[in-house]
Amino acid sequence: MCMLVNTSDGPVHRNKSLVMVPMDSPGIEKVKKIRKIGMNSSDTGLIYFDNVRVPQRYRIGEEGQGFVYQMQQFQEERLWAAASSIEPMEDCIAQTIEWAQQRNMFGATLADQQWVQFKLAELKTEVEALRALTYRACDLHVQGEDVLELASMAKLKTGRLTRQVADTCLQFWGGMGFTLENRVSRLYRDGRLGSIGGGADEVMLGILAKTMGIAKRPPRG
Ligand SMILES: Cc1cc2nc3c(=O)[nH]c(=O)nc-3n(C[C@H](O)[C@H](O)[C@H](O)COP(=O)(O)OP(=O)(O)OC[C@H]3O[C@@H](n4cnc5c(N)ncnc54)[C@H](O)[C@@H]3O)c2cc1C
Repeated sequence: MCMLVNTSDGPVHRNKSLVMVPMDSPGIEKVKKIRKIGMNSSDTGLIYFDNVRVPQRYRIGEEGQGFVYQMQQFQEERLWAAASSIEPMEDCIAQTIEWAQQRNMFGATLADQQWVQFKLAELKTEVEALRALTYRACDLHVQGEDVLELASMAKLKTGRLTRQVADTCLQFWGGMGFTLENRVSRLYRDGRLGSIGGGADEVMLGILAKTMGIAKRPPRG
């Protein structure tokens, strides 16, 4: 496990280090798996650490720089979150179009309803807008520029749009949408993590309020 741990008593932004911890080390107890509403191919669990010792060479980079490394890593994690959400959202819309074209009701298909057509058209437009933002942020990141603001915007939009796409599409699947028998309901469950993991939506908004100069930056300890 790669852990961010306090390695001194100094100020909170300078007392942390990144450390690799072998999970078979003495003192580690994997207590239980925690059941989740989604993301079931990735385990989450309760783990106790009791006087676990690792050699200093398992530290990543400089001692006391862990917080800085973590913040740098977050830029790529947030860009990844945005980039990896686009295809599932497109798939969700495509599957829903296919479903709506097959679903007959009262002499027409669900896809014949203008409401359904317009909602799906709007969602696809939003996904394309997210793609443009994500590509621009990635492009600047690869060029070595600071993309704190753009990556935070992409992450924020990703979490919200994934929920919107999944929820809207699930509604069009009717009762079948409420089952586990399709990928749309999977995006509904798995996608919910997008607004929480890697920094919640509100944390992204907090970063943006600072980069926009609206909120004060807290003094660095
Ligand atoms: C399936 C899963 C996998 C995960 N994997 C990892 C991992 O691999 N590595 C890792 O380090 N972490 C991981 N996490 C942890 C994840 O990053 C945190 O759960 C997430 O950042 C939210 O932190 P928290 O749970 O402590 O919520 P809290 O910090 O308690 O926040 C709770 C809620 O309060 C609100 N909130 C928070 N801050 C503010 C604010 N400043 N202003 C207004 N509202 C706010 C938000 O709505 C937030 O959802 C994982 C979590 C899950 C569920």
